Amino acid sequence: MEFYDHLKRTLAEIEANDLTKRERLIAGPQGGRIDVVDGAGTRRLVNLCSNNYLGLADHPDIVAAAKAALDQFGFGLASVRFICGAQTLHRALEQTIARYLGKDDAILFAACFDANGGVFEALLGPEDAVISDGLNHASIIDGIRLSKARRYRYGNGDLNALEDCLKQADADGARFKLVVTDGVFSMDGYVADLPGICGLAERHGAVVMVDDCHATGHLGAQGRGTPTLTGAGDRVGIISGTLGKTLGGAMGGFVAAAQPVVDLLRQRARPYLFSNSLAPAVAAGSLRAIEIAEAADERRKTLGSHASRFRAALGQAGFELLPGQSPIIPVMLHDAGRAQAMARALDARGVYVAGFFFPVVPQGRARIRTQMSAALSEADVDLAIDAFKDAGKTLGLI
Ligand SMILES: *Cc1c(COP(=O)(O)O)cnc(C)c1O
Repeated sequence: MEFYDHLKRTLAEIEANDLTKRERLIAGPQGGRIDVVDGAGTRRLVNLCSNNYLGLADHPDIVAAAKAALDQFGFGLASVRFICGAQTLHRALEQTIARYLGKDDAILFAACFDANGGVFEALLGPEDAVISDGLNHASIIDGIRLSKARRYRYGNGDLNALEDCLKQADADGARFKLVVTDGVFSMDGYVADLPGICGLAERHGAVVMVDDCHATGHLGAQGRGTPTLTGAGDRVGIISGTLGKTLGGAMGGFVAAAQPVVDLLRQRARPYLFSNSLAPAVAAGSLRAIEIAEAADERRKTLGSHASRFRAALGQAGFELLPGQSPIIPVMLHDAGRAQAMARALDARGVYVAGFFFPVVPQGRARIRTQMSAALSEADVDLAIDAFKDAGKTLGLI
């Protein structure tokens, strides 16, 4: 059929441009070292590309909490929340998230992609304005597309451009204005200037929303995320986040905010109304993960020291890194083919990384995005540093 031929041609084009993403299979739990399937067997690799920042993905207490929930609450809910899909467990998790992030309440979604997909359409009408950082996550971009609010976009972290957008929205007669930003930009590892953003928003009467997926659990005091890390605190009105990264890494998303925000989302957010409840085991494991993350100062310290050691060593070796303080450390290679070759060379040296290239990052901005984890040992980090140096020299990059 012509349709399938068309799809095959598109795939061939992706392949010809060296842009095909291939998935490798892991034969065990997520962790600092993982068993990657290779032919008939597996190879143990040092893992630099998961969002398992605190190393909780295989934590025995979290696994035990999930197992206990299977026995007590069953396997699944087979219902959306408002029909017959809410257990005491779900409410306890929402209240725990709200307390952890210092908000009135929280609402669960199947993923943060869904939280961001539902929040704008439910809260904003055509009279309103949403003002979005140019590097925001795809789920924010899609969520904004689904809303009827007027859209404004400013260059990544450009506060002057943000102020222009706020003024333009006022000039266009906006009723309410919502400024939305990632707390940590996942491809670059930059932390948003939340005090600066909140200051402008307050001056122009706008609400601030932060997607803190790459921060909740590991950045800021007790892992409360970028509002705490940057000192913006309560000035951030709405926080969206994920249970699929630091907080155990299973799946699920949430919005934490003032009571009327959460109450209206429960009435109107379409991914909440028309999608199944979180599995009880996931809810119970995530609940335990938040308790562990809140008290995990040792793990946060390990994460921070791995990040500064790795960053310093690669910088000294002559690699071009994007600056920053988060555990996301992008090694810039610019060219997609080069990023792919580097990923392969690191794999051969026992290090698991992912090359990122268009359309995940802009053309000409290909990179290896490395992510540190408290699950790594110092020896793992050293092995990774040596592998980068050796592969970089072999490929003529340093
Ligand atoms: C990972 C991520 C998401 C999506 O989270 P899921 O729960 O996996 O859907 C949304 N926003 C940002 C900034 C992310 O990094």
